[in-house]
Amino acid sequence: MGLDAMTRADAVVIGGGIAGLSVAARLAKEMRVGVLEAEVACVYHASGRSVAFAHFGLGDRIVRTLTALSLFEFREMESVSGDPIASVHPALHIARADQRGELDALQEVHDRFECAYEILQDAEIESVMPTLKIGPEYAHRAILDTGSLRLDTDAMLQRHLADLKANGGSLVTNAPVRSTVRDAGLWSVETLAGSFQAPYLVNAAGAWADEVARMAGVSTIGLQPRRRSVIFCPKAPGACLPRPWTRHPVRLATPRRKSWTKRSRRTGLRPLPP
Ligand SMILES: Cc1cc2nc3c(=O)[nH]c(=O)nc-3n(C[C@H](O)[C@H](O)[C@H](O)COP(=O)(O)OP(=O)(O)OC[C@H]3O[C@@H](n4cnc5c(N)ncnc54)[C@H](O)[C@@H]3O)c2cc1C
Repeated sequence: MGLDAMTRADAVVIGGGIAGLSVAARLAKEMRVGVLEAEVACVYHASGRSVAFAHFGLGDRIVRTLTALSLFEFREMESVSGDPIASVHPALHIARADQRGELDALQEVHDRFECAYEILQDAEIESVMPTLKIGPEYAHRAILDTGSLRLDTDAMLQRHLADLKANGGSLVTNAPVRSTVRDAGLWSVETLAGSFQAPYLVNAAGAWADEVARMAGVSTIGLQPRRRSVIFCPKAPGACLPRPWTRHPVRLATPRRKSWTKRSRRTGLRPLPP
């Protein structure tokens, strides 16, 4: 299907990030689908900047249940060239002494989802992540999740895009949605790249999903685009395993050494122009 101006599809997906492309690839097996992306290319925003770890440290019960359900698919999923898209990479959840309650709650989550993990204390934490400051007021107790996955997001997105196109779906870039109107069971979607119509409209606009919701006259959920930073450091010399993806349940611990290689990835989550 070529989703040219005024083309009628069965479903129009707004947003060409991981959410939009993955849902579009699945829908395309059943119906004619078009994806509208505001930017010049897909995954320009959060999906192109993600560290792409699948672990149980994020989200509420619903998100964690979705994580559990996704892990199986991630392990099975192959890139377009047939390589796996996921590899096991440990995740370290650190806490100060006064954050024991939060860490215990996270341990319960790991038990509930039957994760493989170890509880580490002080020197044991330092042995897996030597750059951390150790002690009751810093990294004191931790969960080392040994089953978490690092995902190749680029391979995932290429896979979804290939599946979408193989099933006749289309992607239109440079197509910021400016208005959506529903009439007689049909959504009319106006973009800078033309007008599109479909009975089903999927809002996958990421941090801007509330703006799209407002256009469509449905309730918002209070989303705000925010900037996030991530620090990368190299694998320890001679180490077999990579350093764990490290996070805290409440607040970041202070890195001890300034000399370690660090690279900050800023998300640049800017609001789209109206
Ligand atoms: C630095 C960083 C690290 C992260 N690490 C992890 C991690 O380790 N594990 C994890 O699970 N998650 C992580 N995340 C979160 C994860 O990346 C996001 O949850 C995910 O990428 C969101 O995907 P999305 O498709 O919903 O949004 P996006 O990727 O932002 O896609 C939304 C798309 O919609 C488009 N759009 C918006 N408005 C319109 C419009 N009006 N018309 C047309 N198109 C529009 C945008 O241009 C954008 O391309 C991280 C995020 C960041 C920034």
